[in-house]
Amino acid sequence: MIALTASALLTPRECIEQPLLLLDGGKIVEVTSRAVRELPRGCRSFDFPGAVLAPAYLDIHIHGGVGHDVMEPSSEGLNRFETSLARHGVAAYLPTTVTAPEENILRALEWLANSIENPREDVAGVCARPLGIHLEGPFLSHTRRGVHPPEYLLPPTLSRFDRYWQAARGHIKIMTIAPEIEGAMELVAEASRRGVCCSLGHSDADLETARAAIRAGARHATHTFNAMRPLDHRQPGLVGAILTDQHVTAEIIADGIHVDPAIVQLFLQVKGQDTAVLITDAISATGMPEGRYRLGSFEVELKGEECTSEGKLAGSVLHLDQAVRNAMQFAGWKLQETVQLASANPATVIREKQKGVVAAGADADIIILGPGGEVQKTIIAGQISG
Ligand SMILES: [Zn+2]
Repeated sequence: MIALTASALLTPRECIEQPLLLLDGGKIVEVTSRAVRELPRGCRSFDFPGAVLAPAYLDIHIHGGVGHDVMEPSSEGLNRFETSLARHGVAAYLPTTVTAPEENILRALEWLANSIENPREDVAGVCARPLGIHLEGPFLSHTRRGVHPPEYLLPPTLSRFDRYWQAARGHIKIMTIAPEIEGAMELVAEASRRGVCCSLGHSDADLETARAAIRAGARHATHTFNAMRPLDHRQPGLVGAILTDQHVTAEIIADGIHVDPAIVQLFLQVKGQDTAVLITDAISATGMPEGRYRLGSFEVELKGEECTSEGKLAGSVLHLDQAVRNAMQFAGWKLQETVQLASANPATVIREKQKGVVAAGADADIIILGPGGEVQKTIIAGQISG
């Protein structure tokens, strides 16, 4: 048994002062306070004075990092990437594919399904785990494709989706889709029926089409504002549908580059603490020096903090712990309010009840944060980072 004490604990919806947290066998056993319970005898105890315990983060939209692209079948690269995620407080993530030739996507889905089903025993140290896949493309709008290669964008059909579904052995948790393309509504309904979270994005949809997709089952939005028809007061479009529906959860890239800090603030005020989700959309260039890096089947240039391809933004080099700190700064939110956007909320999107919360019975995925949100240590499945 492991006992953790610190100055506060964020569950994250509640704050417990002088917490005592007991972990055993990779699970949280008890969440209590030193005011009501003594440290049990015979457990390994760790005290973090002045620090805050919180659920570890989940990144539900991420393409790679430290030189590794998640579509590339390399165990060594994946291990390096997952170790780096853990250093930034991320315990679980959805490897996210980009539009590519169909055989490349199918190969990536199969490889990712293997790594989801078979946790590697040989891995030393604490590393993040893939929980499922986010399929971003090919069912996207040509007009709002961003850097997704146009030659591989495809109209959505049930049989095409089924090929991806089979290759991924049912591990697709989120699918980004543009609802205005022919066949999309039918696929939204069918994929939602299979438990996939259909996420509206890379779309030029108007308000009515977006709302029809939500009625068909879509319940999430992919990197709100980016690769969408801009919000206009006479033509609110997809952004208008996302901002006015409190049942729709929505991602935002809070790197200060993809979306202006004032718009991040506006977004957080409108979506609130329960439906806003911080993601990174980070690519293989994250944590690397300037240069050229892969994103799926194409190349991206990293210069300063910006990744571009064909002169357009191509993913980010953001870390999720930094996104939390940025959101606090941009919106003037407290750590407690903001931690939820990278833990409990993404867990809700993918309906993972054991993740993103500190509660008895949940997975022992915990981060130890400084008062400003700096990650001091990450615990994944009860294993403490060095
Ligand atoms: Zn992306």
